[in-house]
Amino acid sequence: MSLNLPTLRAQFPVLSRQVHGRPLVYLDNAASAQKPEAVIEAMTNAMRRSYANVHRGLHALANETTQAYEDARAAVARFINAPAPENIVFTKSGTQAVNIVANGIEVEAGDEIVLSVMEHHSNIVPWHFLRERKGAVLKWLDINDEGAIDLGALDALIGPRTKLLALTHMSNVLGARTPAAEIVRIAHGKGVPVLLDGCQAVVHGRVDVAAFDADFYAFTGHKLYGPTGIGVLYGKRERLAALKPFEGGGEMIDIVEQGRVLYNEPPHRFEAGTPPILEAIGLGAAIAWFEAQGRAAIEAHEAALRDRAMQGLRELNWVRLFGEAPDKGAIVAFNAEGAHPHDVAQILDRQGVAIRAGHHCAQPLMARLGVTATARASFACYNTLEEVDVFLAALHKAHKMLS
Ligand SMILES: *Cc1c(COP(=O)(O)O)cnc(C)c1O
Repeated sequence: MSLNLPTLRAQFPVLSRQVHGRPLVYLDNAASAQKPEAVIEAMTNAMRRSYANVHRGLHALANETTQAYEDARAAVARFINAPAPENIVFTKSGTQAVNIVANGIEVEAGDEIVLSVMEHHSNIVPWHFLRERKGAVLKWLDINDEGAIDLGALDALIGPRTKLLALTHMSNVLGARTPAAEIVRIAHGKGVPVLLDGCQAVVHGRVDVAAFDADFYAFTGHKLYGPTGIGVLYGKRERLAALKPFEGGGEMIDIVEQGRVLYNEPPHRFEAGTPPILEAIGLGAAIAWFEAQGRAAIEAHEAALRDRAMQGLRELNWVRLFGEAPDKGAIVAFNAEGAHPHDVAQILDRQGVAIRAGHHCAQPLMARLGVTATARASFACYNTLEEVDVFLAALHKAHKMLS
């Protein structure tokens, strides 16, 4: 079964608009994806028909809303093949999911955290906090010439003081996928847990946390066709139970007295205060919508988009490509010779083509690549092969104007 693109695109209201008098070609999906009617409707319906706070109601609307919120948790658990809904913590973002782990683990001066040079700042800065505040040591896994993780170097980076590996499952710049099962096997062989940042990987491929046995898995809703304000932290039961709570407040407690406090069980222990109820419902709808399109069909289509874009760019001898792993996700970073990526992005914008230019929240990667910024086109399941051609033609024009 392949995607019916006109039908699929028609479900995204924003895709039919124009920008600067041109049809919108939205290629900034790695920053955030557009939303289908199913998500917009699920959230507005919740507000129109059945809304209340969750978990503490003795009335119909509270019970219905709690059910919808917990159904969304169960949908997330099924989506990544987690053993139970209790393994799923709702957060406000992918960033917060990483912060919950960084804040919650026990770290002493000299303990080590292993990262890669292609991490997003969300999976770097929380660990810098541990370096600044606790004296933790950050160890950096390099990338190879293809722009993928240098797996051969991993073993030597893990020592007796290693507390955790915190690695991306797919780079938001290079598109490179990391071999999760292999990494976890190496780390667990030395008794070290693994957190994977799946903010991009959940969008562009199947994620099965049981199969690759990660201890923690973080991702975000707004890149998966869901709303902003919702993220997910998956954790193994015993790993979540061992984390110190992140925020204090209502909902995350069992007993509060003047002289002591007892915490609720995970996942509620990490959901202090009123959680992002509508956003969780929206994420549940996004997952249902996404799965209904057919994963295999989405993956095949995105591979075709990636191949067309990569091939088109390879033919241009004035383009430098970043990230050439053959099985990479549909994220294409590049620079045009003699042109600043910001200028390229601006000229493309005048032609209706939305791409991103900058450091992509990955400054250590920029330093590793020897640049300060790149341009990036990132694709979603609703992009078409014709849009890839519009992008390439617009890039030609930008090059002519700038060189
Ligand atoms: C977007 C992104 C994040 C941050 O997620 P937010 O929900 O936007 O905070 C982290 N890691 C990667 C790889 C990302 O692409």
